[in-house]
Amino acid sequence: MANGKFIKVDRIYKECNLTLANKTFKVDLFPVELGSFDVVLGMDWLSPMKVGIQCFDKTINIPLETGEILVIQGDKSGSKLNLISCIKTQKYLMKGCQAILAHIKEVKPDERRIEDVPIVKDFPEAAQRAFDEALRSSLERIVTASGPEFGDWQWRLATLPFAFGGLGVYSAGDVRHYAFLASRLQSAGLQTKLLRHTGNPSEVAAPILMKKLADVYFTKVTASAESTFSLSPRQSALWKSQQGDHTSAWLRAVPILGLGQTMNAKTYRCVLCYRLGVPLFSISTACSACSRVFTGDIFGDHAVSCAGMVGIKHRHNIVRDSLVDVCYRSGISARKEVDIGLSGGNDRALRPADVLLYSWDCGRDVMY
Ligand SMILES: [Zn+2]
Repeated sequence: MANGKFIKVDRIYKECNLTLANKTFKVDLFPVELGSFDVVLGMDWLSPMKVGIQCFDKTINIPLETGEILVIQGDKSGSKLNLISCIKTQKYLMKGCQAILAHIKEVKPDERRIEDVPIVKDFPEAAQRAFDEALRSSLERIVTASGPEFGDWQWRLATLPFAFGGLGVYSAGDVRHYAFLASRLQSAGLQTKLLRHTGNPSEVAAPILMKKLADVYFTKVTASAESTFSLSPRQSALWKSQQGDHTSAWLRAVPILGLGQTMNAKTYRCVLCYRLGVPLFSISTACSACSRVFTGDIFGDHAVSCAGMVGIKHRHNIVRDSLVDVCYRSGISARKEVDIGLSGGNDRALRPADVLLYSWDCGRDVMY
């Protein structure tokens, strides 16, 4: 071969027809792997034919048996693109030259997208709806014993994250949006390999990414909630108050009986109703602790701050005593229920400090 290699062949195709400019010649062909060429005639064929090659003119002169010389003209142009005038084209066509009219368009292959990946099993939307219906029905049963007061707003509020004032119960309808995106982005590297994309996709830890996407999603969802559900001022205020720090901490608390971190079913239901804005009373009734009647208080707002409630005072005192105890054990000088003799306005003395810390800040006392 031309590259100096030797290739063994086991057959020869003798006297094959080679047609050049309507003249037929006989050539012997050896079958070998060639790559981009179909046939290489080689010197073996040219020598006995006494073929002359003019490198300057780019012509091959083949003497024929009739005495004539067949001239094969090579490509004269140095550039890749050969342009001829319109008049010359017409002349060629009149002479009977063959013309091919071609319209060439460069088409880039479409970038493959996720939709192009064949789906083995599609997750039916009906399944997601069935799951959410079952979830809502369970929530309704817990909060209102399947009563009519649990509406679309209560469902929306309950299925928001804690940070957005919800109960942290996630519906499949919400989760599917950002969970899909998180999964899609997190597996971008793998998908790149599978889909043969180019680029440099970033791989972020899935839980962090999902949390970020959930924040984006719920920010968008809640931005329009007020107008979508035409919330009353009370509903708006309640929802806003539930978005503060630690306002949902009780929902995460581990129910430990010894630490007073448990609620009975009735209390739990009342708290959930209060948080979701479900009326607890159908009519204004007198407070069972202080006997006062607050007209229109069907949601139980008074109960949250009733001075006559033993439970509220009790919890307040437990917190106060615990703090004083911590101070005592830490060597901090503190006393509880200290009358500091300041005026609370309207000629009334200020209530005694729950806890007074002595020489807390640069020799000054601090109370709360
Ligand atoms: Zn009361």
